[in-house]
Amino acid sequence: MATDLRKPDFAARRRHFIFTDEHEQLRESIRRFVVAELQPHAQEWEQTTFPDRVFERLGELGFLGLDKPERYGGQGGDYFSELVLAEELVHAHSGGVGMGVLVQTDMAMPPILAFGTEQQKQRWLVPAIAGKAILCLGITEPDAGSDVSAIRTTAVLDGDDYVINGSKTFITNGHRAHAIVLVAKTDAGAGYEGFTLFLVAMDLPGVIREKRLDKLGMHSSDTALLAFQDVRVPRSAVLGEVGKGFYHIMWELQGERLIGAAGSVAGAQHVFDRTLQYALQRRAFGRPIGHFQAIRHKFAEMATKIEAARELVYTAAWRFHNGDYPVREITMAKLHSARVACDVADECIQIHGGNGYMTEYGIERAWRDLRLNRIGAGTDEIMLDLIGRSYGL
Ligand SMILES: Cc1cc2nc3c(=O)[nH]c(=O)nc-3n(C[C@H](O)[C@H](O)[C@H](O)COP(=O)(O)OP(=O)(O)OC[C@H]3O[C@@H](n4cnc5c(N)ncnc54)[C@H](O)[C@@H]3O)c2cc1C
Repeated sequence: MATDLRKPDFAARRRHFIFTDEHEQLRESIRRFVVAELQPHAQEWEQTTFPDRVFERLGELGFLGLDKPERYGGQGGDYFSELVLAEELVHAHSGGVGMGVLVQTDMAMPPILAFGTEQQKQRWLVPAIAGKAILCLGITEPDAGSDVSAIRTTAVLDGDDYVINGSKTFITNGHRAHAIVLVAKTDAGAGYEGFTLFLVAMDLPGVIREKRLDKLGMHSSDTALLAFQDVRVPRSAVLGEVGKGFYHIMWELQGERLIGAAGSVAGAQHVFDRTLQYALQRRAFGRPIGHFQAIRHKFAEMATKIEAARELVYTAAWRFHNGDYPVREITMAKLHSARVACDVADECIQIHGGNGYMTEYGIERAWRDLRLNRIGAGTDEIMLDLIGRSYGL
């Protein structure tokens, strides 16, 4: 029998089979930009939120339209290039930056691209890809989050216009946005067929940016409470089909959850990498703390969880890319990667000891930022329910 001479490739540069050399070049250039132009401001933007010029710079560099068609100013790449963007944004050391950017590219833009008219695409998608227009997505309301069908915002036809009334909360980019993709009730008696998506300019009379909301983490992002008081929009503001808004949003949420899952895994990996460096340098009882078995095993546990989560995300993404609609696996990926990210960030604080609790090291920020991932885009409990129901339960 031939002897297998292969040796463990622990130090080999990792590249998953879904990525090509082009993806890796893209990864390098995004990372270079993020480290040079975003990371130095991480601390400052915790106080001020990140400035609008971040969108302009990303637009100039082509990073806001990586998988969008070239005819709208995009790069015409595949879905995996969006994963690369989500992964590299973690090097900003500020979760709010990644969230603000991905709301633009992977939450607000996809419904415009999928359901919008040519006029809507020219008016909003083209400048959004160029970084000249900022978008947000309005689903959640003060009295309806997990239960999207309980939203109260209404859009009532009046002549040739719809008149929108209601409120949206927790809206990322809500203060800076030029337009919102908004779901409203258009027919109270029609059940799930009674919702419609709208694409609404945020400078219309009656759009009120009520409050900048304070939060646990993601401080560099802007989170708004919005009110809509008799906001008059033409029929051409309908995005997609009248009465299909609920289904359009459920479709949008799949992309939102998958990209969020990729961000969770990348966030976990990033905080792991930084903590590994720390554990090799920090000494106690005459040796680097990473050389204690108790700490070594923490890294082993974390690394295994991260790898498993990454495989879930990449497999779901690979299926999505190849034309499947793997809702169950996307839901699992979202649930599992968010939990892993929170567990890993928590363990990394522990490994840092007191320094982990100090803002200077940035680990507590990662912990606070990543905590959102078990709530935003659908809570753990809702993910579990969706997975359970997918088995007919
Ligand atoms: C920082 C931040 C940014 C956000 N950005 C946006 C945005 O840009 N646009 C947007 O539209 N929304 C946004 N959201 C809203 C987010 O998607 C919602 O917070 C989330 O969907 C949960 O809704 P909720 O907060 O109303 O919680 P609730 O629905 O009130 O849930 C409260 C608790 O009850 C549980 N629960 C509810 N229903 C069930 C059930 N059937 N079974 C078991 N448990 C259940 C939940 O899991 C949760 O634990 C953001 C939220 C945050 C915090």
